[in-house]
Amino acid sequence: MMNRREWMIGSAGAAATIGSAVPAGAQPSGGKKPVVIASANGMAACAKAMQMIQSGADTLDAVIAGVNIVELDPNDTSVGYGGLPNEEGVVELDACVMHGPTRRAGSVGAIQGIKTPSKIAKLVMDHTTHVMIVGEGALKFAEAYGYQKEDLLTDKSRTAWLVWKESLRSPGAFNNWVSMQQNLSAAATPMKQLRSAFPNVDEGTLAWAWQMAIHPTYGTINCLGLNAKGEISGVTTTSGLAWKIPGRVGDSPIIGAGLFVDPDVGGAGSTGVGELNIRVAGGHTIVDAMRRGVSPKEAVLEALKRVSKLYNDDQAILDKLDIEFYALRIDGEHAAGSLWGTHRSYKVYSVNDGGESRHEACVFLYNKQS
Ligand code: ASP
Repeated sequence: MMNRREWMIGSAGAAATIGSAVPAGAQPSGGKKPVVIASANGMAACAKAMQMIQSGADTLDAVIAGVNIVELDPNDTSVGYGGLPNEEGVVELDACVMHGPTRRAGSVGAIQGIKTPSKIAKLVMDHTTHVMIVGEGALKFAEAYGYQKEDLLTDKSRTAWLVWKESLRSPGAFNNWVSMQQNLSAAATPMKQLRSAFPNVDEGTLAWAWQMAIHPTYGTINCLGLNAKGEISGVTTTSGLAWKIPGRVGDSPIIGAGLFVDPDVGGAGSTGVGELNIRVAGGHTIVDAMRRGVSPKEAVLEALKRVSKLYNDDQAILDKLDIEFYALRIDGEHAAGSLWGTHRSYKVYSVNDGGESRHEACVFLYNKQS
């Protein structure tokens, strides 16, 4: 279960080196080229953020404007509008922001009806004494600032939800009331059964929805931006795990897990199974490793090793789990890492350092034999 959209490079011809060689202990310094990095789905977000940073915008405004593109995209079924809903068919969103220059943070959890939760997280940071507001309170807070509650379901995400509900007729179907291990071997509903239940849904949508029913997507965008002055900010935003129990909050809005920024060191964020990341406080772990002089590449691997320990390094279980970490140091050095890859097939992340956005290779902890 739990494979995010496969943003993998599957051939040796792909752009990118794996990781980057920076001597451990390199000291961060400002005055470098601006850099924006994001999860694989963040190519347009990186381009937008870079364009704003180059025009002198604040780094947080820039990365938020970047991720707004993905939040508002109905075709991205893992973030914002069009995101897959909870088990009751309601989209609930998590987001947080950190502004490096002022060392402030804001966050919303399980907010409904607002397409751009990252903007609400910034409002929490800018206008309250709080860091995090969740659920009904978060929606009321957004409404107080003039946002209107909207239906975030699209025809596509509604269909996927109904297909998942249909799949619950099969024994062993995916649902969040069982253990993670049990869900790892969730059984598929025969496509034939689904076809007769959804005669008006086209073949492609049905095949995708069937995948989502048993392997619900995790998807999120994390974006970190650094300007030439060495100022850094970050944002993470998601609709979280599909079919989640209402009120479930993942790692994305948790400061120190889905995102952490320290203006003296750098920033880090995560996508993937939030339940894993929360337990290792991945964002903070990575920034703290960089503070000790560990390179971004080694820092993301350190966090991945901690995730691996959660399952006693049992690769049979870890094989089915999915988590990525992203790190940007204030000298512009960056890296991202995932649990699995091979030298020919590996996850990617988005990078923009002034030209076109590009995908670079994630480092990986375990080498898949296949
Ligand atoms: N980390 C997010 C969560 O657990 C989902 C994701 O990144 O795909 O809610």
